[in-house]
Amino acid sequence: MKQYDVVIIGAGAAGLFCAAQLGQAGKSVAVLDNGKKIGRKILMSGGGFCNFTNLDVTPKHYLSQNPHFVKSALSRYTNWDFISLVASYGIAYHEKELGQLFCDESSQQIVDLLQAECAKGKVDIVLRQAVVSIEKFVKNFEIQTASETYQTENLVIATGGLSMSGLGASPFGYKVAEQFSIPVVPVRASLVPFTWKESDKPFASLSGIALPVSVSNRNQTFTNQMLFTHRGLSGPAILQISNYWEMGESVEIDLLPSENIVEIVQELRQSSPKLQLKTVLNRHFPKKLVELWFEQHLLQDKVIAQLTKADLQQLEQFIHHWHFLPNGTEGYRTAEVTMGGVDTDYISSKTMEAKQVEGLYFIGEVLDVTGWLGGYNFQWAWSSAAACAKGILAK
Ligand code: FAD
Repeated sequence: MKQYDVVIIGAGAAGLFCAAQLGQAGKSVAVLDNGKKIGRKILMSGGGFCNFTNLDVTPKHYLSQNPHFVKSALSRYTNWDFISLVASYGIAYHEKELGQLFCDESSQQIVDLLQAECAKGKVDIVLRQAVVSIEKFVKNFEIQTASETYQTENLVIATGGLSMSGLGASPFGYKVAEQFSIPVVPVRASLVPFTWKESDKPFASLSGIALPVSVSNRNQTFTNQMLFTHRGLSGPAILQISNYWEMGESVEIDLLPSENIVEIVQELRQSSPKLQLKTVLNRHFPKKLVELWFEQHLLQDKVIAQLTKADLQQLEQFIHHWHFLPNGTEGYRTAEVTMGGVDTDYISSKTMEAKQVEGLYFIGEVLDVTGWLGGYNFQWAWSSAAACAKGILAK
C-alpha cells in the first residue's frame, strides 16, 4: 500500500497542473493515469500548437448550469498568471485571432512545462494505471489499481470529459461522482461539427470550402470561418454555436455578414444593370458554392435589372438568413469538449471540494463547466487546478 498526501487521477492539463503546485508546496503527490503518456489531449490541441489560454477570459466565456461557479477560480488564477508561467519557460507564443494564444513551436512545449513543474515538486506520475475501485474509510480514500493500492486523505478527480476515447477519455469521473451521490448534469459532445440531413447532402460536394459567416441562435451569435465538410458544417463559427445548440433546433447563418446583398445589387443596378445575378454572387462567394445554388434551383439566375422586389427579399433571406437544421453532430469522435458533467452545485467554487464528501475534489473538464473555443477550456483546467491546490494547502 502506498500512502500520499494527495492522489490525483488523470495526468491531463488539470491533473498535472494541480500536482505540480501541491508538490512544490511540499505535499507528497501521486498522479495516476490509464494511458501510456501524459497530456495526450494537450499534444493534439490547437492543431499541434496548443491554444493554451486567451487574452480575454471572463465568466461569460463559460457555460454551466451555475454560471457563477467559475468566477472565483478564474479570478484567483488568471490567464495572465499562466501566460507569465509560459514566458518564464522561454516558450514563444503568438495571438492567432480573437485573443487566442498558441505556442510558436509545438504543444509539446506545454506538456514539457507541466512535466518540469511536476519534477520540481517531486510528483510521482504513474502511467498505465487503470483504477479498479475507490473506497472511503472515515478520512482515507483507498484507490485500487490492477497492480497497487494507494491511500490518501485527498483524492482529486481530473479525468476530463468523453471526447476522443482514443486519447484515454472515459466516464470514470462521472462514475466516481455517482458513487458518492453527487449528481452529474447530462453530458453531450460539444465544440463539435454538425452533420447534414439527407436533403442537404448535395452540399457535401463543397467539402474543403471555407467562408466567413455569422451563425446565430436565440442565445448567441458568432462571426468567424465556416467550413463545408463531407459530413456537414464545421469551422470555428460552427463549433462555437454547437455549445449553445440543442438537438432538433436550427441555426441561422448569415453568409455575408460584413455586407448587405440587397444594397450590393441595388448599387450595381445603377452602374451595370445587365449583369447576371450569378456574376454578382461569384464576386462575393466561392464559385463552387454559387454553382451549387443554381444547380439545385435554390436561386434562379436573372439579369439584375429584372429582379423584382420579391426576388430581392428572397435573396436577402437566402444570403443573410440561411436556416440550417443539422441532422446532429459528429459526436465524441471529433468533439473538443463534453458539455455537462459533475454538478457544480455540489462542489465548492473556492476549493473544488465536494460539499458533502470531505477530501474529494473534481477539477477541469469533468465538471459541468464548458468554455468557448479559443483557449478557454485549458484556462479552466489551470484555474480550477490552482483553486483545488490552494484549497488542499489551506487545510
Ligand atoms: P484531460 O486533459 O482530458 O485529461 C484527463 C486525463 O485523465 C487523461 O490523461 C486521461 O487519460 C485520464 N483518464 C481518463 N479516464 C481515466 C481513468 N479511468 N483512469 C485513469 N486515468 C484516466 N482546449 C483549449 O483550451 N485549447 C485548445 O487548443 C484545445 N484543443 C483541443 C483539441 C482537441 C482535439 C481536443 C479533443 C480538445 C481540445 N481542447 C482545447 C479541450 C482541452 O483539451 C480539454 O478541455 C482539457 O484537456 C481538459 O483538461 P482535463 O485535465 O480536465 O482533462
